[in-house]
Amino acid sequence: MENITTIFKEKKLKLTPQRLAVYKYLMSTKEHPSAEVIYKAIQPEYPTMSLATVYKALKTLVEVGLVKELNVGEGNFRYDGKCETHPHIQCIKCSRVDDLSNEVFKDINTDAQKVSDYKVLSNQLYFYGICKDCQ
Ligand SMILES: [Zn+2]
Ligand SMILES: [Zn+2]
Repeated sequence: MENITTIFKEKKLKLTPQRLAVYKYLMSTKEHPSAEVIYKAIQPEYPTMSLATVYKALKTLVEVGLVKELNVGEGNFRYDGKCETHPHIQCIKCSRVDDLSNEVFKDINTDAQKVSDYKVLSNQLYFYGICKDCQ
């Protein structure tokens, strides 16, 4: 948790227990939860914390670059504690979102650059399929 303490200090932001709880939860899961899911998960430990507080904490964490916002086209966002760019895959049946190894796609920016006139800076890769449990 050193990282978050340093970053919040640098940005002169207050590291409230709520912000820390949201961050800790995101670091502990690979599930790419939505704000509602995070809210329900930390509710037993933080019964007074509202959904609005969770949203605010997430907004701050995204702004300082500790958390990534994932638009999966569900009408709401999901959140990812893994900040470096990596591809995702989502099950069309149960909606779970998993990380894909970045290794396979590491040259994709260079490849995209080759076939376009762009200087490619980043990408957002998203795959859809049916997960092992749903097959
Ligand atoms: Zn599934
Ligand atoms: Zn991810």
